[in-house]
Amino acid sequence: MKTKIILFLAISTVFLLSFIINEEKKQEKPEVNSGIAAADTFKYQVDQFADIRILRYRISGFEQLTLKQKELLYYLYEAALAGKDIIWDQNYKYNLTVRKTLETIVSSYKGDKNSDDWKKFMVYAKRVWFSNGIHHHYASNKIIPEYSKEYFAQLVNNSNTSALPLNKGENADAFIKRITPIIFDPAVASKRVNLDPKVDLVTSSATNFYEGVTEKEVTEFYKAMNKPDDKTPVSYGLNSKLMKENEKLVEKVWKIGGMYSPALEKVVYWLEKASVIAENAQQKKALDLLIQYYKTGDLKTFDDYSIAWVADTASAIDVVSGYIEVYGDPLGRKGSFESTVSVKDMEASKRIAAIGGQAQWFEDNSPLMPAHKKKNVKGISAKVITVVQETGDAAPTTPIGINLPNANWIRQDHGSKSVSLGNIVYAFEKSKSPGLINEFYLNEEMNKHVKEFGALAGALHTDMHEVIGHASGQINPGVGDPSETLKNYANALEEGRADLVALYYIMDKKLVDIGVMPSLEVGKASYDNYITNGLLVQLARIKPGDQIEEAHMRNRQMIASWVYEKGKTENVIEKKQKDGKTYFVINDYGKLRILFGELLKELQRIKSEGDYNAGKNLIENYGVKVDQALHKEVLERYNKVGIAPYAGFIQPKLIPVMKDGKITDVKVEYPYDFVQQMLDFGKNNALLPTVN
Ligand SMILES: [Zn+2]
Repeated sequence: MKTKIILFLAISTVFLLSFIINEEKKQEKPEVNSGIAAADTFKYQVDQFADIRILRYRISGFEQLTLKQKELLYYLYEAALAGKDIIWDQNYKYNLTVRKTLETIVSSYKGDKNSDDWKKFMVYAKRVWFSNGIHHHYASNKIIPEYSKEYFAQLVNNSNTSALPLNKGENADAFIKRITPIIFDPAVASKRVNLDPKVDLVTSSATNFYEGVTEKEVTEFYKAMNKPDDKTPVSYGLNSKLMKENEKLVEKVWKIGGMYSPALEKVVYWLEKASVIAENAQQKKALDLLIQYYKTGDLKTFDDYSIAWVADTASAIDVVSGYIEVYGDPLGRKGSFESTVSVKDMEASKRIAAIGGQAQWFEDNSPLMPAHKKKNVKGISAKVITVVQETGDAAPTTPIGINLPNANWIRQDHGSKSVSLGNIVYAFEKSKSPGLINEFYLNEEMNKHVKEFGALAGALHTDMHEVIGHASGQINPGVGDPSETLKNYANALEEGRADLVALYYIMDKKLVDIGVMPSLEVGKASYDNYITNGLLVQLARIKPGDQIEEAHMRNRQMIASWVYEKGKTENVIEKKQKDGKTYFVINDYGKLRILFGELLKELQRIKSEGDYNAGKNLIENYGVKVDQALHKEVLERYNKVGIAPYAGFIQPKLIPVMKDGKITDVKVEYPYDFVQQMLDFGKNNALLPTVN
């Protein structure tokens, strides 16, 4: 069900993109006046703390939209904001209590705001805001403050205590006593999502999807609902909390009149306004079904909505809204609220369409063995979107690609939408320090390639990976699905296969002929980028002594070290040392392309024949092991550049211009103060009680 490219890949891609920035030349897309900054001075990174960077993105082209489109986007934006606090409560029952406390202190503390303790407190507050709760957004372990309990009590007592989320009859002292273990005790709610199979996953996870129930009870509860013959099953349990009431298991459904009603009423209020001015009948049908779903909580309606949403391909404006991804539930059943509002990037989508339109040519001309080629290959249909707003599970950390819906039978019978978040990817690129390029590239020519063509190379690589890479090749008759034949190596091998399709063709004149790149120099930049990342830079993501576990990282090292080894006799890629630093320099791009082709052919053979041992050997021999000395060197060099590994975004603000009760225009602002945005959200968009 991993259909959404979540943070891990986003981060990996960020690393890839680290090499393709172009700070000096300011080769930007046509810029739109942001209202607060001149075109080429837009600040993409505005803050860094702990392991986090705070970035901003722009809505290019917003001013050129019609008034009706702007108005529609504005309503969807408000609907997205109205639902945003649901995930705070879903992540942990007392997250909103903690947040309200932090907001109270940050906005009303009367003491010294220059002390070390205050700075530590602010880092904690920002980390909680960033994670939509008190657990690390990615690792899911509890964030432990670096200031003391005594200091915290002092902060509370010297703030506006009447604004605290006190229980009835509770005074500040009693409140401090109640909330201190929630914030400080490592044993209380220590992990948001526990995936350790040795313990009860439900009782050991702090998530608020369940209460007072065991893993066994949950499993049996939903097993009883399962109908084995149902070809179109609803996603049982997707939109409810399961808990005990009077010794009986009950689902508290997230709907109007049910749990989270105050937020959902507002979501629906704005969606109803959007429905009235929908772009076309199909979009209106989808929005109306979504409204119906929020009103009734009926999961069959959610499926109807998803089908209608998939069928809406003509609209420029799109929205993801609902309880979508299930990574927040240790049992993978409950959906976290998210919303992503977007408008199609017509120009960038043409690039993807041009590649998808040639899918058969790419298949016919690939180095695969004839029997492994598809006779009728269909590129996956995809578009590039410009994000206008992200909330809930999609913010502040964001995916860079979304592929929905999640229900397998809907994907099979009705298809899915695959989108790339163009302006988000762009902002990631623009936020990079040129320090990394200087640190990891040895010669001028590589440096020049990467600086000049790296951004386009990265975008094309991603497009081809998604649109023709995963779509290519066929499995021999009678051979099972790779998840059965290649087992735990299936993911890394499949990602490698898709990467190799992209690498093979990015050095093909065909891409110049169909007008998606100016010259083969783009291909060279892509190769430099891939080899340096796969053999050096990505090692910065793992801890000393660890091996590589994650599928994308395994595939990248596997490919890079395989071609390095196979090309050694002809010196295709050369390992060089200078001033105690290691570099990899490509001497022959043409021969490297042939090696990529050979490995692609072999990976396809492994997949087509289900050759587990060959797949295992490739990954284990080339993709897993880490040279400890080189790893140490990379960590030192990377740390010197000083870039935090995780990044998330401040959201743009849409402001309607009103005249006689009607919207006459919508303006965009790009706030730059993360803390201020979080305080504003707390003031203007907090629709839920602190405990639900
Ligand atoms: Zn992939």
